[in-house]
Amino acid sequence: MGDNVSFVKAENCSGCALCFAICPRKAITMRYNEEGFFYPVVDEKKCNRCGLCYEKCPFRKIINRNNYRHPESWSCWHKSEQVVMASSSGGAFTALAEEILSRKGIIYGASYNPDLSVSHVRIPSKDSLSVVKKSKYIQSDISRIYGEVEKDLRAGKNVLFVGTPCQIAGLYGFFGNNPAGLYTCDLVCHGVNSLAVFKAYLSYTGKRLRHSIESVDFRVKIPSWEVPSVGLYYRGGENIVKVNEDPFYRGFLHNYYLRLSCYNCRYNTLPRIGDITLGDFWCWDKRYRPENFNPKGTSLVIINNDKGKELFLKVSKDKLNVAIADLYKTVLYNPFIKTCAEYPHDFFKRKEIFSLVRQHKYRELFGKQLSPRYKLKDRMRKYLRLYKEKLVKLKR
Ligand SMILES: Cc1cc2nc3c(=O)[nH]c(=O)nc-3n(C[C@H](O)[C@H](O)[C@H](O)COP(=O)(O)OP(=O)(O)OC[C@H]3O[C@@H](n4cnc5c(N)ncnc54)[C@H](O)[C@@H]3O)c2cc1C
Ligand code: SF4
Ligand code: SF4
Ligand code: SF4
Repeated sequence: MGDNVSFVKAENCSGCALCFAICPRKAITMRYNEEGFFYPVVDEKKCNRCGLCYEKCPFRKIINRNNYRHPESWSCWHKSEQVVMASSSGGAFTALAEEILSRKGIIYGASYNPDLSVSHVRIPSKDSLSVVKKSKYIQSDISRIYGEVEKDLRAGKNVLFVGTPCQIAGLYGFFGNNPAGLYTCDLVCHGVNSLAVFKAYLSYTGKRLRHSIESVDFRVKIPSWEVPSVGLYYRGGENIVKVNEDPFYRGFLHNYYLRLSCYNCRYNTLPRIGDITLGDFWCWDKRYRPENFNPKGTSLVIINNDKGKELFLKVSKDKLNVAIADLYKTVLYNPFIKTCAEYPHDFFKRKEIFSLVRQHKYRELFGKQLSPRYKLKDRMRKYLRLYKEKLVKLKR
């Protein structure tokens, strides 16, 4: 008798849904927990303890693809300025997707659902590519996608799957090998935020703007790509706020409501898991070699194996402006290539945030606790107290 994934602790489960996709008895469902992250739930009546899900879980048994230990890295951006502006970074994803689509292949990427949760979708043509462009900082549900990718590969199609490293690990765990037509890009990954907190934020801002929010763009390049804004769109209007003034984004930057596995990530490491890694090129080089850097958006591309190299070389000739970069300098400016987010130092803050969400105290959370103004007031009080303490000491 084997174990099933109910023995996997929350901090060791990325929510990749591989267990859900492979269970022969259909005994697993993926459900949101009270923090707003999906986890597998096993129906013990259906489970025959075959042990398959536990055995294959990629957070338990790390998938090793023998990728390069010292990969090449590139800075690049799409030759079309329109694509650069419509992408989170420099549009490297679009260049790769265009190549696969030109081979009559299929793209799998993350798209908002009507309720602004996120799921991976199948993109068979260029017309619908825009829905998967741009980073959504909520976890994307890939539970239904495994079967679709399998069908496309069986039909002899090329497939490009882009996702977080844990999702790519799930995909290779599903196939157990490296199917010839499958190309994967993992993202440099800060971590994914709670859907419960995101929904609370949408409700709070919707009330404030007196409109329900219909779409969100976390990477509006205003005033620039390097200091972007969050765009909230509603019928007949928009609200654009700099990321350091947006309460949800501020909490994200402080790692307050990431999935527990993101503080314990096994796949934000070198060698990387995908054929190619995509990220933002934040590197130092820009100060010394400005010709390798586009201020409207520059992608970081890391080539992890021969398959990734073949695809990138083909694409880079026609569609991208490219320059070789020094990976180790890049890592200094983009730590999530090699390491994962830290658990927030103020331990109680994370608990407090989830407690405020549960109690629907959204104004207290977003209007005060995560608001930059509140922080400033807080800091002033703290400095005043420290100053007074110092004065008292000096008088003694
Ligand atoms: C949660 C998250 C955290 C990230 N953290 C960092 C970071 O710390 N440092 C860094 O350099 N880069 C990070 N990135 C990657 C970066 O934001 C860009 O997505 C990447 O550079 C690709 O940009 P692009 O211009 O090539 O393509 P874009 O056109 O912007 O394409 C975005 C691609 O990302 C995929 N995607 C979007 N949202 C999700 C999601 N929620 N889950 C899975 N896939 C998704 C889409 O399917 C698409 O393929 C992160 C991305 C995500 C989704
Ligand atoms: S990491 Fe993936 S396979 Fe493992 S328990 Fe979680 S959802 Fe299932
Ligand atoms: S042990 Fe086997 S039957 Fe039980 S949930 Fe896991 S895969 Fe399904
Ligand atoms: S940080 Fe790790 S566990 Fe979290 S979403 Fe990214 S790859 Fe998955």
